[in-house]
Amino acid sequence: MPEGDSLRRAAASLQVLAGQRVTVETPHPRAAVKGLAERLDGRTLESVDAVGKNLFLRFEGGLVLRSHLRMTGRWRVEPSGAPRAGRPWLVLRGDTHEAVLWNGPVLELANAPGRGPRLGPDILDAPPDLARMLELLREAPRGRAVGDALLDQGLVAGIGNIWKAEALWDARVSPWRPLVDVSDLELRAILDSAHRMMRASVDGARPLRRIHRRAGRPCHRCGGVIRSHPQGEAGRIAYWCPTCQRGGREPAAAPSRTPGGGAEPRA
Ligand SMILES: [Zn+2]
Repeated sequence: MPEGDSLRRAAASLQVLAGQRVTVETPHPRAAVKGLAERLDGRTLESVDAVGKNLFLRFEGGLVLRSHLRMTGRWRVEPSGAPRAGRPWLVLRGDTHEAVLWNGPVLELANAPGRGPRLGPDILDAPPDLARMLELLREAPRGRAVGDALLDQGLVAGIGNIWKAEALWDARVSPWRPLVDVSDLELRAILDSAHRMMRASVDGARPLRRIHRRAGRPCHRCGGVIRSHPQGEAGRIAYWCPTCQRGGREPAAAPSRTPGGGAEPRA
């Protein structure tokens, strides 16, 4: 049975990934239904701590993953791409290494003990608590850009960079509009869209991506040229179509950038 010291060893070996942006996969079906890959993929893993018999993995944006190993679970850290047989619960892949969780019976998003902001309502809840999300978004600074606010896990838990971009596009709202200029109806449309797409993704569908990582290419809806620019403190890349997602304090276009110039990695 994994005891405190083996958890501490796991935490120590996972440090190799701290500070890196990780790709996240949940190969095991029991882990896939939790929607963790949708929510964590592409985020920076900020820290890993063993507390009691739990491992807390803190991700950018205040999202914390709790792993409890019970009798059977174990973490392995190996070079990226090492061959493996079977379906682990979770794979966190960094630049050179990947952390693999096998048989992890307890794996959930949680509030870190004694620190960090509390999580807002979960976007994957069925149904999601849109009223409370709206309330929290209205309590946030009015000048804050809606695209930035959507990634704040204290307001709405679970929306990642991909679904932020897709939901805003779907609702025709620019990520740069300040919250004060976004109506309740528009906020609901964005949240509802994020919920539907993420839920579908968790259930195994592959919702079409219309805007994420399509900078320089034409908008599916209006043909306008899609733009991208870092947004918020973490500098996550926002994608939007300036033609059908207008308004807000849109950043000036970089003059050297040519449409389709290849600066964006393809999804
Ligand atoms: Zn457009």
